[in-house]
Formats: sequence, structure tokens, C-alpha cells
Amino acid sequence: MSLIISDLKASIDGTEILKGVNLEIPKGEVHAIMGPNGSGKSTLSKIIAGHDDYEVTSGEILLDGVNILDMEVDERSREGIFLAFQYPMEVPGVSNANFLRAARAARLEEGQEIDAVAFYKELYEKMAFLDMKKEFSSRSVNEGFSGGEKKRNEILQMLMLQPKYAILDETDSGLDIDALKVVSKGINAMRTTERGFLLITHYQRLLNYVHPNVVHIMADGKIVKSGDASLALELEEKGYDGNLAG
Ligand code: ADP
Ligand code: MG
Repeated sequence: MSLIISDLKASIDGTEILKGVNLEIPKGEVHAIMGPNGSGKSTLSKIIAGHDDYEVTSGEILLDGVNILDMEVDERSREGIFLAFQYPMEVPGVSNANFLRAARAARLEEGQEIDAVAFYKELYEKMAFLDMKKEFSSRSVNEGFSGGEKKRNEILQMLMLQPKYAILDETDSGLDIDALKVVSKGINAMRTTERGFLLITHYQRLLNYVHPNVVHIMADGKIVKSGDASLALELEEKGYDGNLAG
């Protein structure tokens, strides 16, 4: 079982951004993607999640053998794809708790209902685990949250939705060390043989807490190099120039 991306090419307004991405994330593994700004990392993550700004011109994305490219964003989410955005959106007027409840309800079979008591118990437990104050459940989704609070909130969503494959786009960016540890704890708690992760990051420091099985470097719309965790250390030392040349 794995998430397989093959020869994925995609454009926006006629400009090709992804130029043939190949990537396989088996369940149970954490893959990191690093790479210079503008190389297409966020584009890749949004295309996997089903963002419709981009035109996919070739390739396939198989989720445990099922091609998800023709599915709408909500269908992909129900199939088990989760994306934590680099820039999480604010949803004024919708409380965090109601948002999560609706997302959970959308995953139930017809006729099934959410057990509200159990839902809130679970929500508060998970918030406590992430050192989030209870009041965040009644605040509008991400509205007025600090950068770090938004990133924690993305991890809360992941914990509540239990995806099969989680893509985290720079969830570690802008976090202080305590928030980084909390976010890492959330990811590690979700790490099982039944789930795969794609972590997009610029920094080795996240990978000190969440040890990746594979590290990829993306440049100019392609994966140009893959290796084990030591590749991230090498990048930190030599930078992209030293690595992309070598
Ligand atoms: P990364 O996340 O690696 O920094 P992105 O995927 O955000 O890179 O961007 C890759 C390239 O695609 C950039 O040159 C960016 O300007 C362009 N791009 C991404 N999204 C859009 C968009 N909605 N409209 C126009 N250009 C875009
Ligand atoms: Mg990005």
C-alpha cells in the first residue's frame, strides 16, 4: 500500500510548474521533501490534495492503487488524503469544533451520526495533547490565530481526521522550539505502519524530531535527488548548490 505519484506534470496559466514528478510513499514511511523556494513543493502538495487552480497535463496519483486525479477535493479527503497548508486559511464564523465535527460527519456512512459527547471528549484530549487551550475549540477556524497556533491547529485537524496519507507543507516554518516539539509530537503520535507522511520542510531541525525514512530534493519541478536522512544534514552543510551540482 502506498501513495504513488508518477510522471506528474502540471501547469498554471500555461506555465509548466511540475515537470515530471515521480515519488512513492509506502505506508509506514515518512518522506521529506526539501528544495529551493519556487521549486514546486507547495504546488505538488496542493495538486495531491485536489486544488483546482492547476492543470494536470500528464501522470497519475495512485492512493493504494486507486487513481485520485479525477476526484474532487472532498472525495480525496474522504479517501484519506490530508494536507496541512503552508498558509492555513481562516474560516470566519465557523468554530473549530463545528468545522471538525462537519469534517468527521462527512466521513460517516449514511444514517450514522456523531456521538457529540464522545466527539468533544476526544477533541479536548487531543487539544490537551497539543497544549492547546480549550477556548480554541470555540474560536473561528484560524481567525486571529498566531502563525504557531495555526500550525498546531493543522496538526489537531490531522489527529482528528486520521488520514491515510498526510502531507505537511512547511508546518514547522515559523515555529518556536516549544511549538516545534508539540508539532513533532503530534506527527510522531500518528506515525504507524498504516499511514504515510510527506513532510515539506526547509530545515533539518524538524527532522531531528521526526526521523524521515527518505529525503528528496526538489528543484525546478522535479525530484532531482533522493537519499536517507543524512541527505538533509548534507544539505544543511552544503546548501542546494553543492547538492544539485553533485
Ligand atoms: P515552493 O513551495 O517550492 O516554494 P511553489 O509550488 O509555491 O514552490 O511555486 C512554484 C512555482 O509556481 C513558483 O514559480 C510560483 O510562482 C508558481 N506558482 C505557484 N502557484 C501559482 C499560482 N497560483 N499562480 C501563478 N504561479 C504560481
Ligand atoms: Mg511552498
